[in-house]
Amino acid sequence: MSRRRVSIFGATGSIGQNTIDLIARDLDHYEVVALTGASNIALLAKDAIRLNAKIAITAHDHLLSNLQEELKDSPVKAAAGQAALTEAASRPVDWVMSAIIGSAGLQPGLKALEQGATLALANKESLVCAGELILQTANENSAKILPVDSEHSAIFQGLVGEDIAAVERIIITASGGAFRDWPINELANATLAQASAHPNWDMGQRITIDSASMFNKAMEVIETHEYFDVRAGQIEVLVHPESMIHALVGFNDGALMAHVGPPDMRHAIGYALHWPERQVLPVERLDLAKIGSFTFRAPDELRWPALRLAREVMARGGLAGAVFNAAKESALDGFIAGALKFTEMSEVVEETLTVVDNNGGHIDDTMTLDNVLHIDHLARENAHQIIKQRAG
Ligand code: NDP
Ligand code: MG
Repeated sequence: MSRRRVSIFGATGSIGQNTIDLIARDLDHYEVVALTGASNIALLAKDAIRLNAKIAITAHDHLLSNLQEELKDSPVKAAAGQAALTEAASRPVDWVMSAIIGSAGLQPGLKALEQGATLALANKESLVCAGELILQTANENSAKILPVDSEHSAIFQGLVGEDIAAVERIIITASGGAFRDWPINELANATLAQASAHPNWDMGQRITIDSASMFNKAMEVIETHEYFDVRAGQIEVLVHPESMIHALVGFNDGALMAHVGPPDMRHAIGYALHWPERQVLPVERLDLAKIGSFTFRAPDELRWPALRLAREVMARGGLAGAVFNAAKESALDGFIAGALKFTEMSEVVEETLTVVDNNGGHIDDTMTLDNVLHIDHLARENAHQIIKQRAG
């Protein structure tokens, strides 16, 4: 049997490393084409050599010589920059992991779909910014998109063999993140270290902070709306501190199908890697008797205003998702840099959504890549301005 050709975008990150963990266990079956990273050159080079990749790419032009140096005694080629990332995504493969963080993941994902590869999509920002474009590109090229976000993998699995028309509601669970039990009036003083410590999941720093603010869940609600054919009003968020039930699909006969598993991203990654089959995965088998109970709470929108903003974005449609994401990325940068308080992130996003409003007809709302990139840029500029004014 010929080996499956795979590429991993964002190989040095949390999802990328979990993907490599699975592939490295079974290297006889895979031919690794491209691995990409950004700042972590040593890890990128080490994995590219270990997996015998054809090419390793850093997103940062200025790090090319470092990467070349690390790879000089190996057959792995080195490249750098946006054009190199796009070129790598155009190389024919069977399966691509899209695990770059942020809207930077959009273009490589589109390129991978254009060449007909199956896209394992962890980069939820692609769907939030440009859901229609991503799905249309997949359609036009008969390419498959498989969700990797744990909630969306759970929903996807819950829908196997089902008719989407029989779905009444989709419930995505949220751990509640680092501050689920904090008094609301103390949230403004939350530090970066406190926001970066997730109670259940071991993830990259940015998504961990987004979990504490629920911006991650807000993005996932939009991701659900874009990926699955369901209305905004059919999507519910449920706080479930144990993070064992990842999502539930509710059908018109009242049945709720829950997906239960340990908080380990290798399940969703492995499901997307082996789909449509299931294969043995190295994840913990839950002992439910030992766990004893699962708990649930309704989400409090005073604590987590991001959830309200997600509904506004879905109601607005068009390019509002791209504005939301760009503003959120800028606000997160602001919090990480110490320019914003934790609670100011949602305020900055809300203000940016108000300022960059295309209802006035000044912005072309058609979903093209150029328009998405334009509004992404505009939203970042406005968000930075708003952050600067606050700091000043
Ligand atoms: P990480 O921050 O751990 O990793 C991000 C990856 O993207 C790294 O390889 C990083 O390179 C690379 N990168 C960073 N900036 C750029 C850029 N401008 N251009 C190209 N590459 C870049 O993120 P995660 O793995 O946590 O998340 C990846 C994606 O998966 C996100 O969209 C996230 O929302 C989603 N996701 C993550 C989950 C998780 O468990 N972590 C769960 C569900 C979804 P380097 O490190 O070398 O700088
Ligand atoms: Mg998730």
